[in-house]
Amino acid sequence: MLEEAAIASVQTGLFIGGKWRDSARTMPVHDPSTGQILCTVADADAAEAREALDAAVAAQPSWAATTPRERSTILMNAHRLLLENVDRLALVMTLEMGKPLTEARGEIAYAAEFFRWFAEEAVRIDGGYMTAPGGGSRFLVTRQPVGTSLLITPWNFPMAMGTRKIGPAIAAGCTSVIKPAAQTPLSILALADILTEAGLPDGVVNVVTTSSPDEVITPLILDGRARKLSFTGSTKVGKHLLELCARTVMRTSMELGGNAPFLVFDDANLDDAVDGAMAAKMRNIGQACTAANRILVHNSVAEEFTRKLTQRMEALPVGRGTEDGVVVGPLIDEAAVAKVSSLVADAVDRGASVLTGGEALDRPGNFYPATVLTGVPDDAEMCHNEIFGPVAAISTFETEAEAVERANDTPYGLVAYVYTESLKRGIRVCEALESGMVGLNQGVVSNPAAPFGGVKESGLGREGGTTGIDEFLETKYIGVAV
Ligand code: NAP
Repeated sequence: MLEEAAIASVQTGLFIGGKWRDSARTMPVHDPSTGQILCTVADADAAEAREALDAAVAAQPSWAATTPRERSTILMNAHRLLLENVDRLALVMTLEMGKPLTEARGEIAYAAEFFRWFAEEAVRIDGGYMTAPGGGSRFLVTRQPVGTSLLITPWNFPMAMGTRKIGPAIAAGCTSVIKPAAQTPLSILALADILTEAGLPDGVVNVVTTSSPDEVITPLILDGRARKLSFTGSTKVGKHLLELCARTVMRTSMELGGNAPFLVFDDANLDDAVDGAMAAKMRNIGQACTAANRILVHNSVAEEFTRKLTQRMEALPVGRGTEDGVVVGPLIDEAAVAKVSSLVADAVDRGASVLTGGEALDRPGNFYPATVLTGVPDDAEMCHNEIFGPVAAISTFETEAEAVERANDTPYGLVAYVYTESLKRGIRVCEALESGMVGLNQGVVSNPAAPFGGVKESGLGREGGTTGIDEFLETKYIGVAV
């Protein structure tokens, strides 16, 4: 499909109460590989966003009253439609976000899988019945939708971060207002039409795009009618939103930033470890909360691991995500290139060596090549901040205890990776790592059927897995006299 046709296929207004409408203001969406404007979309103000909340609140009682099977069927329809539209949707995603088309197709499949998973979960919402320990009463425990929810998503996975929230909200019987990132609104706008085609009633999901997130979201949180905020984004914004939510004691799910350690022990299969590091580092051009941020390798295997990783990294083609074979697309914007450049300069100043890459490319678009640094000291800024770019930062360790201690030396705790052929060591280290997820001999942990989420400042709650739907359910206990 032609790029223009893909962009033209997406509605660009506000999606409120099942209808598309214009807003008073518009904002541009850019192609990060060229800097060109792809289109403009609605730029909601606070009053327009309130109308979206009104629509979601109005639809809540009838949506909560639908049967689990009805909700499940709509999600299965949406799963099918996403896959039927994969080429068009992947192209839209690549154009607005920059990731290579093959990765964008993979994200559409991953995003669709959340709908299938939660279609299956919708019909398994359970409850309980028990006798009070002292007798005289029975406990009935049932689970009800938490209510209208606010969903906020980042730019790095424009479709999957949306379906990971919309899927369980729909399954649980919650209506929602979703605000996608201003830089990548098109994927969620395209999804709105897919949900309508799947049979979702008016008002169940409403989409608000805006360039003024604070002005628009703060009143929605303080309004009091929305009962849940599910946020994916930076720890800084997450903390701010948690404070706001405290004012109305709103339920929250927080999927925040990471600083993943990637540990390679001396008994690791090094080829597997290099494969894993490529996946954990280069997925999404390094712009993932799960990205391997600090690669810690045992001294005795560091040279071989580094040589093999560098060979793979320096061979990666850079270019527009729409070009055949490209692996390293553009970063999201100029600020991202400046941040990566500054982190690399800081590491080099502190003694790190550049084995490949290391400088932004002198061409239009936000391109930074795959880069490998060795000897990155623990006090380098990149060991404390998300690099969010294609930079592998390697340092070495001597003992298992040292590796674990350094891996845990961060306020973040989203994911960690461990490469060892020893089962005992693998279990021991996985249990000692302070993170919500660990990849043991695998470089990708994301799976809709698994509980995704972090500890410490990486967040609260879990998305996906059998507990993902719980985030959108309240437990109600009914005491029954007998
Ligand atoms: P961000 O700046 O925190 O933005 C995330 C979302 O929050 C965007 O939609 C943004 O809108 C919105 N937002 C910003 N300020 C807000 C405010 N005051 N009130 C309400 N909403 C506000 O994060 P990002 O740069 O888009 O995404 C990258 C971050 O997300 C990284 O830290 C990454 O690790 C994290 N992430 C975490 C996970 C996870 O599952 N743990 C997954 C993916 C990404 P605008 O677009 O208008 O700024």
